[in-house]
Amino acid sequence: MTTQLVQIRARRAASPAAEPTGPRVYVETHGCQMNVADSELLLGVLAGAGYAAVTRPEDADVVVVNTCAVREKAETKVVNRAHELGALQRQRPDLVISIVGCMAEHLKDGLADLAPVDVIAGPDSYRRLPELLAEARQRRGGGGGAVVDVKLDKDETYEGLDGADAGDGVSGFVTIQRGCDKFCTFCVVPFTRGRERGTAPREVLRQVRALVERGYKEVTLLGQTVNSYAWEDSTFAQLLRAVARVDGLERIRFTSPYPVDFTDDVIAAIAEEPKIGKYVHLPVQSGSDAVLARMRRGYTVAEYLAIVGRLRAAVPTIALSTDILSGFSGETDADHAATLDLMRAVRFDSAFMFAYSERDLTYAAKKLPDDVAPAVKQRRLAEIVALQDRISAEVFAAQVGRAARVLVHGPSKRNPAELAGRTDDWKTVILPAGVGTIGGFVDVTITRSTQATLFGTPA
Ligand code: SF4
Repeated sequence: MTTQLVQIRARRAASPAAEPTGPRVYVETHGCQMNVADSELLLGVLAGAGYAAVTRPEDADVVVVNTCAVREKAETKVVNRAHELGALQRQRPDLVISIVGCMAEHLKDGLADLAPVDVIAGPDSYRRLPELLAEARQRRGGGGGAVVDVKLDKDETYEGLDGADAGDGVSGFVTIQRGCDKFCTFCVVPFTRGRERGTAPREVLRQVRALVERGYKEVTLLGQTVNSYAWEDSTFAQLLRAVARVDGLERIRFTSPYPVDFTDDVIAAIAEEPKIGKYVHLPVQSGSDAVLARMRRGYTVAEYLAIVGRLRAAVPTIALSTDILSGFSGETDADHAATLDLMRAVRFDSAFMFAYSERDLTYAAKKLPDDVAPAVKQRRLAEIVALQDRISAEVFAAQVGRAARVLVHGPSKRNPAELAGRTDDWKTVILPAGVGTIGGFVDVTITRSTQATLFGTPA
């Protein structure tokens, strides 16, 4: 699982040439990259049913909110957002509000008690979304409550639908695996996304080639535990190498791997295939063996460090990021200190850091007390964030003077006159205006850094 900050991303409008003819839909995305990809997927389903995408809820007949359930805070944000949309619905009673994805699966019809909602649909129900929305549109004004479809389907991989756009026309997503069988004790994902299943390699390659034909240069392979991917006799390493042979594709990334599934053949593929980015997200969660055991993560600190060692032996410059969960059940000051020690030992390039919040359905919610006081969780989290900020600043400063090959993704967010791109170890580089084209490569020398960004000039 990639525990990333909640983002809200409005779907780009349909092409200017395509005048909306059917109902207008606005989709916004909360949560991880898999949700970004799923939003594109469900937009594809809706486009096939005649829906036209718009960029503002005010212009829509149907609003779809694609949600995350990993943390309580993420769900609270969605409830607040649904009430904002409810205010819009009071002005426009025909507006249909649909809440889909992990939170819909988690809360099921109970979601209707928390938020104004007409359709509640889980992650395996997107093919049926047009029918669910049609039923909800009929019900609006007539009563009858929300339309609910939260059936999990152990075979649904959305085969036949297309890979997704990361929003820049350069980088695309292909979901190669859905669901999770790991059942870490704190995590609700196996309950909201169902059992693990891989997409057939021929279908993955079809989606990758289709993205390349549309001009994409980079693809990110997505899965909840992406490196445990399996389909019949095919392994993740074999899939990586097959994707690397797709002509016209320049870079491959994958997220999120599960540490213990980092087999030697995967590490060899990363080291040997030039197109595979030299960057790995390796979620550790805690630096304490006792906490890792209570989380049922399946590795000890020593085993995790051994995986880091094997990755760095194969690719000495490899960039590593991680997830850290602070304040899990029973975490002591000594456990917390062990997490800080592990961070100092590994020196991650970056990290996603969160305080633990109990999620119902999980083993931890049923059996392990949420017994670290909120103030203690927050203090420990602040220490973790401060340490990571310092390490990130040092790691990025060490890049100054280095030569790098940057794939240009688009204008810089801060200053649209400049360009932004990424190195093959997934670091953002800001370039002066006019030194490259979007989707092209620029060879640069890194001249300056912050804790999250590099600045380069053409070499
Ligand atoms: S159960 Fe564990 S491996 Fe699966 S998504 Fe949750 S944290 Fe990741």
